[in-house]
Amino acid sequence: MTEKLTITALKSRAIVAPLARPVRTAVGTLANAPLVLIDVETDQGVTGCAYIFGYTPTTLKAIAAFLSDLEESLVGQVVAPAEQARFYENRFRLLGRQGLVGMTLSCLDMALWDALGKSAGHPVVRLLGGLPRPMPAYDSYGVVDPIEDRGDLERSLERGFRAIKIKVGDGDLMRDIEMVSGVRDIIGPDVELMIDFNQSRTVPDAVRRIDALSNFDLTWVEEPVPAEDFVGHAEVRAASTPPIQTGENWWFPQDMAKAIDAGACDCAMPDLMKIGGITAWIRAAGIAETKSIPVSSHLFVEASAHVLPVTPTAHYLEFLDIAGSILQEPMLVEDGKVTARGPGLGMVWNEDAVARYTL
Ligand SMILES: [Mg+2]
Repeated sequence: MTEKLTITALKSRAIVAPLARPVRTAVGTLANAPLVLIDVETDQGVTGCAYIFGYTPTTLKAIAAFLSDLEESLVGQVVAPAEQARFYENRFRLLGRQGLVGMTLSCLDMALWDALGKSAGHPVVRLLGGLPRPMPAYDSYGVVDPIEDRGDLERSLERGFRAIKIKVGDGDLMRDIEMVSGVRDIIGPDVELMIDFNQSRTVPDAVRRIDALSNFDLTWVEEPVPAEDFVGHAEVRAASTPPIQTGENWWFPQDMAKAIDAGACDCAMPDLMKIGGITAWIRAAGIAETKSIPVSSHLFVEASAHVLPVTPTAHYLEFLDIAGSILQEPMLVEDGKVTARGPGLGMVWNEDAVARYTL
């Protein structure tokens, strides 16, 4: 019975986990994955788990301290993610929820859903009214060298991926063209190809580059200009042929609604850690449905596999596994697809690995 599932403690641990491949972007390289692991303990012995991706190790201590301060407000509450979301929305209304506060609350929400799922003995997707089903995934690369990385790209295709994303914009236009044409040659015409500028361009430069790259049959062009510049995104979109993608930096569904109202994108890719967790993802999915906008996920492969099956306009799951090294069973890709596992979100910490990477 989940109705008496009551929170008894909130624990956190800061770690820096290795990545299978470092992610080079136009605005810096992620060499590893700085994470804060959340464990929500309950009176049933069930522990709800999730992780926060701090992007840089300098955020980890602050996140862990914030979680520690939140514990008092959680202990004694019955696990009810929408109730906790409402409670914290009020508590942080005057401060605002962007940044570390929003990241922490969003991931706490995921841990609460995980506890509910484990207590019920179901994967979270069942609690959301859906079924675990294989969701099409794309293999997410950083900046690549078509010669050096040819073997990796070919292995992605062997694993069944039918879509590849690469990051561009770290050099001049000629470099973008060489990279995109080189990767297109390797993957052939039938595999979808997405590119990501990671917010690095100005509007005119983005328009110029996208125009020069539009012959390579791009499925989407991601964050050509700074994420918060919704009008700039709309200007690039109006002047470009390939679909414009953005959303990983939207804070809560309110940002998503504003971006869509501004005409910022053809496709949307909310990040579970910034959109408000699973509770708010469901609301975001409703916004996308009313505007007929395809929705993809960003990072968080485990939890994303639970929310995409109940997203009416689900598009792609981003396969960029940042926590696989500290899980007993990292997520699997089968025939280019990823399927949700349970109970809960289907994550069990590999305690040996966690101890090895704890700060
Ligand atoms: Mg991106």
